Amino acid sequence: MRQGHLERRLRHELDTVIGRLDHAGALAASDELCGELVDDAQVIEVREDHQLTRARLVQRAKGLLDALQRLRVGTYGRCDECEASIPIARLRALPSATTCVRCQVRREGVRVRARR
Ligand SMILES: [Zn+2]
Repeated sequence: MRQGHLERRLRHELDTVIGRLDHAGALAASDELCGELVDDAQVIEVREDHQLTRARLVQRAKGLLDALQRLRVGTYGRCDECEASIPIARLRALPSATTCVRCQVRREGVRVRARR
């Protein structure tokens, strides 16, 4: 995968995420929302929903910025954990991936166990 192409793709995704972030932020802050909904509980529910979406979008934007930074310093496509090359197919599906599938599974396994 060529670097210029990758950078364009990451930037494009970042733009999309930032656009959606603006939208989610505007919705969460909007007073117009209150007029459309029947009761306060519903308003709160919708707001929390948008805040959740927002948090997820912020997370994604950070991941993409991080990927661009790694592209710049030349560590893009290398697994954070085992330093192996992340397969192209995985990077195509998830350009901001920082680990190979094996390490990702292990990470999530650790996270699941920690929650119990
Ligand atoms: Zn790995």
